[in-house]
Formats: sequence, structure tokens, C-alpha cells
Amino acid sequence: MTQFDYDLFVIGGGSGGVRSARLAAAMGKRVAIAEEYRFGGTCVIRGCVPKKLFVYASQFHEHFEDARGYGWTVGDTSFSWKALIEAKDREIARLEGLYRKGLENAGAEILETRAELVGPHNIRLVKSGKVVTAERIVIAVGGSANPHASLPGYELCITSNDAFHLEELPRSIVIAGGGYIAVEFANIFHGLGVDTTLIYRGKEILSRFDQDMRHGLHEAMEAKGIRILCEDIITKVSRTAAGGLLAETKNNGHLSTDQVMLALGRDPNTAGLGLEAAGVAVNDRGAVIVDEYSRTNVPNIYALGDVTDRVQLTPVAIHEAMCFIETEYKNNPTAPDHDLIATAVFSQPEIGTVGLSEEDAAKRFEEIEVYRAQFRPMKATLSGRQEKMIMKLIVNAADRKVVGAHILGHDAGEMAQLLGVSLKAGVTKDDFDRTMAVHPTAAEELVTMYSPTYRVRNGERV
Ligand code: NDP
Repeated sequence: MTQFDYDLFVIGGGSGGVRSARLAAAMGKRVAIAEEYRFGGTCVIRGCVPKKLFVYASQFHEHFEDARGYGWTVGDTSFSWKALIEAKDREIARLEGLYRKGLENAGAEILETRAELVGPHNIRLVKSGKVVTAERIVIAVGGSANPHASLPGYELCITSNDAFHLEELPRSIVIAGGGYIAVEFANIFHGLGVDTTLIYRGKEILSRFDQDMRHGLHEAMEAKGIRILCEDIITKVSRTAAGGLLAETKNNGHLSTDQVMLALGRDPNTAGLGLEAAGVAVNDRGAVIVDEYSRTNVPNIYALGDVTDRVQLTPVAIHEAMCFIETEYKNNPTAPDHDLIATAVFSQPEIGTVGLSEEDAAKRFEEIEVYRAQFRPMKATLSGRQEKMIMKLIVNAADRKVVGAHILGHDAGEMAQLLGVSLKAGVTKDDFDRTMAVHPTAAEELVTMYSPTYRVRNGERV
């Protein structure tokens, strides 16, 4: 019998927390997991999952338009925001139930309360005030939308949290930011018929992606009718006498709109968590500092997922949780591998990507080969839609290894998942060349780009 109430106490019922609690409990450990809101965390409750459902909802008007080219006559259509929200809420409740069931079946104790650290082994359950002890503690409290409190009128704006529960679909929206959330929601709102403006401080949206993807998506979004204002910021938001909002910008005057959404990154949720009391160190962004095994500076306390601000992605948090279990409970020290993470932006068209952008690869390698195809996908022929797909492989000329793969177009995310396996396995361009195409697909372009479109040597395109 140990001196602690629990072998493992997990703070936070999101992707990383639930996975670590469930796996440890299934191994017979005495586990408790505390969550102050709903199980499932950002991904299930107010992130990836409801977002993707919204993406589907927003694509139907294009499906209806495309149908005509294929001989269909679609009758009158209409959209109900209320019906979408209700359906989405039912699905989220179902998924939350599954998360809880998984924990219960594994034997973890579910605590519906905020939990705060009061010492290296001590946790206060805020609802009851009770203090419990645990041999090991995992901090998996995630992050929350940056409220941008220095912006005058920020309290009039919404974040992605609110976007999932708006009483009514706005007629117009201005979205600030040029990252995943801003771009995805700009397409969602536009697809649902909302007059949409994106305002981004940099030269081009999606700053960490390959230039071709960034330009290609920018052009496609503008062609659909989304207004994109780059190199600009909102300086003030105020309420008008008529009840709408006025967003003042630095370079584009005043934008009159129903809603302003701020999508300016997410901050670690560490405020008031008692990290000082437990002696856990954080960085200047408030993120818990961890080593390669997700250990904090306090030997028995671990942190994983968005609260560590390494890579803010659900599968990464889950992977970190599984590595924690291997390391701490299976005597198999395993550091999460953050290299070559495939990712998708669920914009319209989608971006799917893994590895280095052309720009980063050109800085890292003396010579790279760039294979690039831009084409109209087959489905767009009869539908008459003008959208183009872009596919790009970046190859290190020295050893022929494919170091980056980037796709803009339908199902790019699905393709990125499989490309992720190939790149992880160290695939070379020759492997692509001797792979038979799957015909007719869009993905076959990936294995039929036989000659480099251009090379980049010492940073210069040749
Ligand atoms: P991102 O980091 O992707 O984007 C934040 C954006 O806000 C950037 O364009 C950034 O500009 C801009 N920005 C930050 N601070 C300011 C400021 N003070 N003034 C003006 N602009 C500012 O964050 P998101 O909020 O979009 O998403 C959070 C995280 O969630 C992402 O990093 C991603 O990992 C994850 N996510 C993943 C999704 C997916 O996998 N499909 C979907 C949604 C989110 P700049 O680029 O110039 O720094």
C-alpha cells in the first residue's frame, strides 16, 4: 500500500489527459481524473470535431451547384443554423459519453471539478475543497483562445469557443488572424452564406506553410468571395447605435459587421493552477516546461498536450500520453517524436502537408528538387468549378529523400495522413517513381511527376 490516495492524478479531461488516465487505469493503477467543464477537451467539445462538422455543413451549397453539371436538378434549398447547432450538440454529447465510458470501463475515478495543485503530490478539488494526494500527477489542462485584451473593444468580439454556440448566424463577420482557426472559420462562415472578411497582419496567410499552399489557398478563397486583407490589423472594435459592430483597421478604414472573431492563437491554461505551490516551472508564455519525456522540473509531475506549447495538435497530445505511459508504467522510456507531423487545414480547398516547406528545405539543404503539379480535378470538369489542385514534393537532391509533401485541394488531409507514413519511413523520390498510380484519382499525380519542375541550389532557383 502506498502512502498516496492515487497512483496517478490527471488534471484535465481532454485528449491527452483522458488517454493517460484510461491507459494507466487499465493497467490496474489507482487513477483519478479531474475536469472542470466537459470530458473531451478542446478537440471534442469546441475544436476539431465540431469544426469539421461545420466544414461539412458549409460545403453543401457547392455540392448543390455542382450537381447540375452531372444532370441533377436540385430543388429549393435552405439552411437552418439552429438545426445544425442542435445536431452538432447531440453528436458532441454522444462523443463525450464515449470518453466517460472509456474512463469508467478502465476503472478511473471521474471527478467533475476544477483541480489545483497545492504541493508536489497534493491536489485540491475546488468543488469540495478536499485535498487529495497522488504519487504521480499529469497536467493536461490544454489551452484557451488568446482574448487579445489589449485591443479596445475586445470584449465585443467572439472567439472560436463562441462560434459553436451563436444564437444566430451573423450576416457578416470579420475574422482576425491568419492561422488554422481564422482560415478554417472564414471558409465555414462564407460557405454558410455569411459575408466574410479575413484580416491578417502578415504578408500572406498561414505563415508556417509552403508558399504555394498559401498563395493557392488565398486565391481560391478570394475567388469564392472571401475578402482577405493582409498586412493589416484591427485597432479598435465598437458597438454602433444600430447594434452592429465597427472594426477600425490600420490600413483599410472602418469595417461595419455583425460579428468580429479573434483567432489569434491559443495560450496555455496555467493561470491559477497552483504551479508555483508545486514548484513547477513555466516559460514566458505560461506554458509548462517539460523535458523530452514530458517531465516537468518536479520529478513526479508531468505535462502533456497544449499546456506545454510544443505542437498544439490533438494527435500529438495523445501520442505524448502514450509515451508517458510507456516511460513511467512500462519501464520503456519513450520520448514523443515530434518530427514529420502530418497536418491538415480544413479550409476550402483543404491543405494537407507533411515535412518541410520549399522555403525551409532550401535553407537546410544545398540543393533541392521541386516537383509541382497544378491541375483541375476531374470532378470539376462537368461541374464547371474553376478550383485548381496543387501538389508538390520537395526532394533533397543529395540522397533523393522526399523531405516535404504539400497538397491543396479536396481530400488533401486524407492524402497527408498516408504521405506521413511514407515520409516517416524515409521514402525516396525513386520509391514514388516506381509506385503504380491509382487511376483515375487526384492522388495519382503524386507518383507521376517524373521530372523536377525546378531545382533550388544554395537558395537560388535554377
Ligand atoms: P495559429 O498559431 O495557427 O494562428 C494564429 C494567428 O494569429 C497567426 O496568423 C498569427 O500571426 C496571428 N496573431 C497572433 N498574435 C497576433 C496579434 N497580436 N495581432 C495580430 N495577429 C496575431 O493559431 P490558431 O488560433 O489559428 O490555432 C491555435 C492552434 O490550434 C494552432 O496552432 C493549431 O496547432 C491548432 N489547430 C489545428 C487545427 C487543425 O489541425 N486543422 C485547426 C485549428 C487549430 P503570425 O502568423 O504572423 O504569427
